Amino acid sequence: MAGLKLNHIYKVYDNGHKAVNDFSIDIKDKEFIVFVGPSGCGKSTTLRMIAGLEQITAGDLFIGDTLVNDVEPKDRDIAMVFQSYALYPHMTVFENMAFGLRNRHYPKEVIKQKVLEAAKMLDIEDYLDRKPKAMSGGQRQRVALGRALVRDPKVFLLDEPLSNLDAKLRAQMRTEITKLHKKLATTFIYVTHDQVEAMTMGTRIVVMKLGYVQQIDTPMNLYNEPYNKFVAGFIGTPQMNFFNVTLLREKDVVEVRFEDGSSLKLPYESVSKIHRDYLKGEKKVIFGIRPEHLEVSNKETGLSCHVTAVEHLGNECIIYGQTSVKDDEFTMKDEGKNIIIKVTEGLKVEVGDVVHVKVNEDKVHFFDGESEVTLMEKIPSYSNTVAKVSGGNLELLGSKVKLLDVFKEAIGKEKEFNVEIPPYAIVPGSDYKLKVKKVEKVDGKYLAYLADGDHYLFALVGRDVKEGQSYSFDLLNDKLKLMKDNKVLLEPIGEEESLIGRFVKEEKREKVELPEEEMNELLTKKAELTAELEKEDADKKALKQQLKEINFQIKMGNSVQRVFHFFALINEHKIELPVANGYKMNSVEGNDCYKNEYRYVTNRKNIHLAKEGLDAKVNKVLDYGNVSYAEVSVDEQKLLVLVDKDFKGESLKLDIKGKDLSVWSTDIDMMIF
Ligand code: ADP
Repeated sequence: MAGLKLNHIYKVYDNGHKAVNDFSIDIKDKEFIVFVGPSGCGKSTTLRMIAGLEQITAGDLFIGDTLVNDVEPKDRDIAMVFQSYALYPHMTVFENMAFGLRNRHYPKEVIKQKVLEAAKMLDIEDYLDRKPKAMSGGQRQRVALGRALVRDPKVFLLDEPLSNLDAKLRAQMRTEITKLHKKLATTFIYVTHDQVEAMTMGTRIVVMKLGYVQQIDTPMNLYNEPYNKFVAGFIGTPQMNFFNVTLLREKDVVEVRFEDGSSLKLPYESVSKIHRDYLKGEKKVIFGIRPEHLEVSNKETGLSCHVTAVEHLGNECIIYGQTSVKDDEFTMKDEGKNIIIKVTEGLKVEVGDVVHVKVNEDKVHFFDGESEVTLMEKIPSYSNTVAKVSGGNLELLGSKVKLLDVFKEAIGKEKEFNVEIPPYAIVPGSDYKLKVKKVEKVDGKYLAYLADGDHYLFALVGRDVKEGQSYSFDLLNDKLKLMKDNKVLLEPIGEEESLIGRFVKEEKREKVELPEEEMNELLTKKAELTAELEKEDADKKALKQQLKEINFQIKMGNSVQRVFHFFALINEHKIELPVANGYKMNSVEGNDCYKNEYRYVTNRKNIHLAKEGLDAKVNKVLDYGNVSYAEVSVDEQKLLVLVDKDFKGESLKLDIKGKDLSVWSTDIDMMIF
């Protein structure tokens, strides 16, 4: 039993194909994780890296607490079940299941007991003497599972194990594998391209596309809160309906305008998390609604459907059709199918009918027309509002505050602009005051809807903040983004800073001295062994061997050795890197690591001003009120460092510790450590 941790895992094949990008997940012990996605998205590659059948290009893989990147597959304590059962045809079921244990020289009795136990669990006890060819596909897959089971692995890896089985058997085996997982209480990682398999089996699902993780979540969250259009379309059958629309808000109503002229009206409250820029009828938006969240209505709804096909499934009925408002323009010739409606059986709908379609307002999805990312995040990444300049002040969120010099410089002559405010940039304080309209608990956090005119400003607040009260707050000015129309006037300041530099290795001969305590322990052990050796009945051979080892350790513990040191070399300044990271660089990049340039990244908080360090010239100081930054140049490179409010100076020395640096390849987007 063990958990797994994948830390920024990448796979670049020898032909340069990047099959897996920055895959990170913490898998808890006993979880049932499913990797799902269309063919070629990198599921098997990831599984094979976990199994040790494929070299990891960059990143760390932990099984339990052990880093296993370089551990042989057989020593990883995992078992893998493949789509092709890979059974030995000339062996019986028993022999097939016992094979691995025999190779590991388990005693006969133990092997028998383990095989019988597994066979019982999988209901194949009666077939132990048969050869695989005399068994059905489902039974063969059980043998393959049994062969994995007898090894008591810490982690089970299953690669499309059911795809060779027919639909009925697949459904049955799904349930059995789920039961097996419960019974064994072991970590399972299961690869499939079948979303139904993923939804029914996984405790958490990783949805992948073209080598990138799209979303990691529980089945219900994937269904209810898909992060983007891809996940929304991949999860659920029949597929979610998508329409290109624009959104126009008028007071409490948002009109969803379809390309074909149809239009729906939704209450603003049901889509209030969508940023106001999307509600002006201009931006391209994708509207998503699942077939089961549509109804056939006998009242006009604004959306109608010309029925082009009807499928009766017994308990439910799937209606396919084409949306269009103008009935007389529709001919069955262009019988498209741009809408699917799932209703319970009993409704009389026939091909050729025109029906009104009603949308379940609580189940609508909207995605950005370009990026296809959801516009309805549970915690909106930012709210936007309008700011006005008057005199030397800024009118923002109903308050007047002093216009910061940094803002003044960024906005130039503009008198009115937009401000994007992320929820975490709103902190208790006194500059602003807004009424709390609603508080919602989201993922353990409290999200307040603050009334900003007829829009909402979303803030993360303490649990004591209640609906109806006034909330006083300050803004973290450095986290705001200033915009005019679609132009960025001022970017928010991020958490990270990066510097381009080289990577160097130095070899030194160094005296290695063991800590006194450890050396004393060795010396005591040596004395003990020597005394033991004097005794008449001593096992002289064994003792001499142990003494030899101890003497070697004592010698090495006090000797001169070759030691490697690794450095980030930035503008002639060397920052020593942890040895393990130095070796990682070597193993990922080979000898090219000494020729290439790299991007060293660290959190700004790790850059300290010091007496010794990287030389930097101060260009200017930016005072954001809540915090000040010095914009400095290191050679040609510019970066921002945190300074005191009253900082004055022309040059700085920056102290950055090697342990705080991560490094990225500059030619492909890949984090090496
Ligand atoms: P999946 O399991 O999701 O179908 P894979 O992990 O098998 O996808 O493959 C991911 C991508 O990597 C695919 O584009 C595939 O063509 C490519 N790929 C797989 N194996 C190799 C290889 N040995 N050399 C080069 N490219 C490979």
